[in-house]
Amino acid sequence: MRSLLIKSPLAVLGAAGGGIVVRDGRIAEVLEHGQAPASTVDDVFDASRHVVLPGLVNTHHHFYQTLTRAHPQAINKKLFDWLGALYPIWSRLTPDAVRLSTRLALTELLMSGVTTTSDHHYLFPANLDDAMDIQVEEARRLGMRMTVTRGSMNLSRKDGGLPPDSVVQDEDTILADCERVIGKYHERGEGAMIQVALAPCSPFTVTKSLMCACGDLAEKHDCRLHTHLAETHDEDEFCHAMFGMSPLDYLEDVGWLNARTWLAHGIHFSDGDVKRLGQHGVGVCHCPTSNMVLASGQCRTRELEAAGAPVGLGVDGSASNDSSNLMEGVRHALMINRLTYDASVTHLDALRWATQGSARCLGRGDIGEIAVGKQADLALFTLDELRFSGAGDPIAALVLCGAHRADRVMIGGAWRVVDGMPVGVDIAALRAAHGEAARRFL
Ligand SMILES: [Zn+2]
Repeated sequence: MRSLLIKSPLAVLGAAGGGIVVRDGRIAEVLEHGQAPASTVDDVFDASRHVVLPGLVNTHHHFYQTLTRAHPQAINKKLFDWLGALYPIWSRLTPDAVRLSTRLALTELLMSGVTTTSDHHYLFPANLDDAMDIQVEEARRLGMRMTVTRGSMNLSRKDGGLPPDSVVQDEDTILADCERVIGKYHERGEGAMIQVALAPCSPFTVTKSLMCACGDLAEKHDCRLHTHLAETHDEDEFCHAMFGMSPLDYLEDVGWLNARTWLAHGIHFSDGDVKRLGQHGVGVCHCPTSNMVLASGQCRTRELEAAGAPVGLGVDGSASNDSSNLMEGVRHALMINRLTYDASVTHLDALRWATQGSARCLGRGDIGEIAVGKQADLALFTLDELRFSGAGDPIAALVLCGAHRADRVMIGGAWRVVDGMPVGVDIAALRAAHGEAARRFL
């Protein structure tokens, strides 16, 4: 691969004011103002109009929900009512719909500056056995890094759970497919493009036995664990009624209170819970937009970080966001955390959650930062739109003025967005095909 100097950027999040040298897919040098590269480079990109961020890392989503955005039967409801309205609609999911929704969500994320994403796919109605395979194909097609999570649900209404029978699988089927997907796709080590995590959906959709078995499998295969926890008061009440304990005690009971685990939402934690999460290194994906849309509550980001728990950022599924734009999520994170705490929460905190914090949630030390040796995953924004005119601090402007679309995105040293457009994607055709597929869910 040819080496490249990203020269004289307008601003950089990190100590690389003079530019960044990319070689063999990694960051080879970070330059101070006026400093020349130590060795010759093949190509030069003039970044004097660009604000450079580490590629954003999205740690929670449900891609298939792009098919049911702003759904008339689901809007303006709390989580359990919202899920109750949507489960029967989601049971119509087909392989083609999974492919189109994955392609659309990945493209949206990429255009907003995301270079690595996870997706929590837990819905397996009949004939959808290859959902994970489809997602891997689509991520590879776009050249994005992805942690696919083999999600699952096996506790349906007849057993006291929330979802209908039509969208759950039995434990043996789930565990066999978890092993299959890990064996086929899970890459270990630096620069991994595809990783696999195991992700039983939530306390009210899976059995304790499945949680325990997934924890054992993750240990055996050295992969990560993901689930929803402490999102709403309803969930808290469910855990006490069903298991006789709080959500966090439940997590410990099933063997998940460890550094392999990152949780979606993590809102309703006591001081003692926060301390335990920090002690055990459990990550929390903060989903500000979704938490505001569903009126779920406010994540205790500051206390969690102070306790030692990694805090990342996620857009969450597209029926509760309803967009897949992580730069918008960064802005929302700043705002809701200002409301939770005070004006000492800054745009740099929100950007840290979306980069380094999210990378830690996914268990990755090779991404999320502009530093020598890290993967060359970068998001470059211009300040050319009207909304930025008059802005002083370029990095603060991205968050405060509402940047929502990257001009250039690089993943592993390769440009994946050029002039605001994803490479190799026909946006109009994708919009038409996805819109057509979504009609079946109305
Ligand atoms: Zn979710």
